[in-house]
Amino acid sequence: MKILEYLQSYDGKPLRFMEVCGTHTAEIHRNGIPALLPPSIELVSGPGCPVCVTVSAYIDRLIELGRDPENRIVTFGDMLRVPGSSMSLSEARAKGCSVRMVYSPMDALKLAKADPDHRYIFAAVGFETTTPVYALLVQEALEQGVTNLRLLTSLKVMPPAIDWICAHNAEGPAPAREERFGEDQESAGIRLSGESFGIHGFLAPGHVSVITGSRIFEPLARKYGLPFVVAGFEGKEILAAIAALVKLQGQGRVLNMYPSAVTEEGNREAQERVTRFFEPCDAAWRGLGVIAGSGRKLRKEYEAFDAGSVALMEDAGGNPACRCAQVLMGRIRPRECPLFGKVCTPQTPQGACMVSTEGSCFSCWQSEGL
Ligand code: SF4
Repeated sequence: MKILEYLQSYDGKPLRFMEVCGTHTAEIHRNGIPALLPPSIELVSGPGCPVCVTVSAYIDRLIELGRDPENRIVTFGDMLRVPGSSMSLSEARAKGCSVRMVYSPMDALKLAKADPDHRYIFAAVGFETTTPVYALLVQEALEQGVTNLRLLTSLKVMPPAIDWICAHNAEGPAPAREERFGEDQESAGIRLSGESFGIHGFLAPGHVSVITGSRIFEPLARKYGLPFVVAGFEGKEILAAIAALVKLQGQGRVLNMYPSAVTEEGNREAQERVTRFFEPCDAAWRGLGVIAGSGRKLRKEYEAFDAGSVALMEDAGGNPACRCAQVLMGRIRPRECPLFGKVCTPQTPQGACMVSTEGSCFSCWQSEGL
């Protein structure tokens, strides 16, 4: 039976799957996949867009640093309109804050080399996919003797956030928020039944899996008894992965359906480069709060490159009616936010999920042609 026919003929219990990759979110909406699924299969977006999960305190700190005449802030364009507690980087730039937009972190190195009288601070935001590039940036700066480059890091890793989401979508008692992702929970016998969850499986993040390998999701699959399917980014690949999630109900296992790019072990060279320059830390996620062990920071021996990243653990300010937190947890769909498409549009974003092209609110808004 063809994949679409198989999905459309599904008449079992209601299923809700979460995609935790911003590119998947964008492709799901671009291909109109939600409308192709029967009412009993629902897709929700998770915290898979690095810009969306960046806390307002991080934006505030960039603005503060950019007001120092010795500093130059360097960032990707997506970050410019993310709301801080009182304004975005774009608004701060209009008020004299020094902010430069680049397309690659390596551009920051060129800028710093060409202007040794100023300190260039790169807004280093991202998941496992981007962190190896920041490691390469620091390595290049070291090798070229560039001393006026800094990173303000807001680097995150995905498994602890998925663990947090699973735990907080359980109907029964969830593991304590401060418990760390990893083997200790399994060996301690903490294992909850997937049946009780609001989420019945995950489209594992494709880009992240290229670096980490698919095996990294196995402890989570076993712990929660849920299937994880690594999918490619074509519409038909996403539909095939959803069909696999339906078929794998009740099985806590990982299936790699993107073998052309993803292996079990991932990219060892990139992993080793990250380990050389970065170490685990707690991290604040917009809407989710602080998740233990979910971040990466520069190791002590490279702290000369750190612009002061460690204290960014708050998430305050912004529009109090914005429901990014619930959207990022898969609790509501973007259109259920009272501001969606009215006060909040890509031209007037009230929350980070409406800013990035990979944000769920932006993707939803675009697919509905509002
Ligand atoms: S529609 Fe706008 S205000 Fe509502 S959750 Fe999304 S980003 Fe926040």
